[in-house]
Amino acid sequence: MADVDNGNETRTKMAPNAEPRLIWDPFLGEYLAQAPTRMRRRELTSACPFCADVSTGRVPPDTTAWIRPNDFPALQPPLGDCYILIYSADHDRTFADLTPPEAMQVVGLWQTIYERLAPHYTTVMSWETCGEVIGQTQRHPHGQTYGISILPDVLAREMALVEQRETEGCGCPFCAECEEEQRGSRQILDGRYWLGFVPPYARYPYQTRLTLRRHQSHVAGLTSAEAQELASFLPRLIRAYNRLYEDAMPYMLALHQLADPRFHFHIELLPVGRAPGKLKFAASTESAWNFWLNDSFPEDKAAELRDALTEEIP
Ligand SMILES: [Zn+2]
Ligand SMILES: [Zn+2]
Ligand SMILES: [Zn+2]
Repeated sequence: MADVDNGNETRTKMAPNAEPRLIWDPFLGEYLAQAPTRMRRRELTSACPFCADVSTGRVPPDTTAWIRPNDFPALQPPLGDCYILIYSADHDRTFADLTPPEAMQVVGLWQTIYERLAPHYTTVMSWETCGEVIGQTQRHPHGQTYGISILPDVLAREMALVEQRETEGCGCPFCAECEEEQRGSRQILDGRYWLGFVPPYARYPYQTRLTLRRHQSHVAGLTSAEAQELASFLPRLIRAYNRLYEDAMPYMLALHQLADPRFHFHIELLPVGRAPGKLKFAASTESAWNFWLNDSFPEDKAAELRDALTEEIP
């Protein structure tokens, strides 16, 4: 595919000062970012900028996983800071392909970038968007991290529940959920340190929450045993999605973490497929009302996921 870098530049009108902005929506009570320079992103270029990190010596030749600045940052300091996390030097090696020791390196990148950004920003968002149909613009497998100076809406709402339960003297809602889902029909991964389940309020059919059993608020606070179990679970889970989708499942993976010790670290996996080869779109009810329609019951999809996971001996 041709390099379309700068392809939109002439058609995109930009204010003289095109610095990214953080905007508050008073009607919805949430922030959004505006960053016109991102229109110039390299989209599915033939020359991979991440492979070039190795070939040009930007990182040492034996580097297997690394962090680089985002060349098209959605935010700039002090509003935010944007990085790319490269999972492997191999251009075609996806997260699902990683061995547990390789996935452990990715967990290590999440820890490193958290420690670097957490002292300066309210929130450290680490995630992966995997799949061209949902906006992945570089094929080379990678994740991203933004340090941002605000609390994004979903974390603000989760944190509000934590605070409410604390006021009521009920304790952490994530710890309570973990205990509840341990017994239920929606559980899919029953680890020593992590519990994986399809939440009762899943928006996507195969949506999975991986909750750390121990109350701890961020990735850098994981013990090495907790990190290692996470590294073995994540690629297995994505391979199970791929089996159910009968192709590479497009998915989003998000670390929900905060420095506030009252928060409870968990990982949200949002696989976008709803059946082999079929996608769930965030269409009108979802996008215009934030009213989600899930074409399935979580316990049924959890049963399918358990079967897909057991097809593979851990
Ligand atoms: Zn590459
Ligand atoms: Zn907790
Ligand atoms: Zn969450």
